[in-house]
Amino acid sequence: MAKTSYLVALGSNRRHGAHGAPAGVLRAAIAAMAAVGIEVERVSAIRTTPALGPAGRGFANAAVLVASRLGPPELLALLKRIERSFGRRAGRRWGPRVLDLDIILWSGGCWAEGALTLPHREFRKRRFVLDPLAEVAPAWRDPLTGATVLQLRHRLARAAPVDRGPARS
Ligand code: AMP
Repeated sequence: MAKTSYLVALGSNRRHGAHGAPAGVLRAAIAAMAAVGIEVERVSAIRTTPALGPAGRGFANAAVLVASRLGPPELLALLKRIERSFGRRAGRRWGPRVLDLDIILWSGGCWAEGALTLPHREFRKRRFVLDPLAEVAPAWRDPLTGATVLQLRHRLARAAPVDRGPARS
């Protein structure tokens, strides 16, 4: 398959024994993506949100622009392998997670086969995805709405001016 571009969102809200706080987890995850042959072309700043209250957990979020010869299901399988290698437990959708990797957009437009949907269904509603995405690919057009990532981010900021910080998918 010809080389394809992807935007991948990263999130963490749990410490890792070796990589430390969530921001360290994301740095290690980006290195792990490169180590398995995913070409990491642009990396956003890692945004952190401190834990709210003593029992809360801090979040870290980021986005990367990558290139790969893999198709969407193969790339997702590779990302899931990386998640598992960081200790992510499958099936605990809302619990704290060491690492979450989501494909948000790909240069092929839309994809809906099996369990994978592109563009990611929720990304237009999430500041913690759109903010880092706007840093690495502001002019990328969402194939469903025709809006650029930057426009989607502005729209969301207007609709919900108080950023409540990252929530989880
Ligand atoms: P979660 O771990 O909560 O992010 O959910 C991951 C599951 O959502 C994956 O195993 C996929 O089957 C499904 N999914 C659907 N669309 C996407 C996407 N664009 N990126 C990642 N996972 C997706």
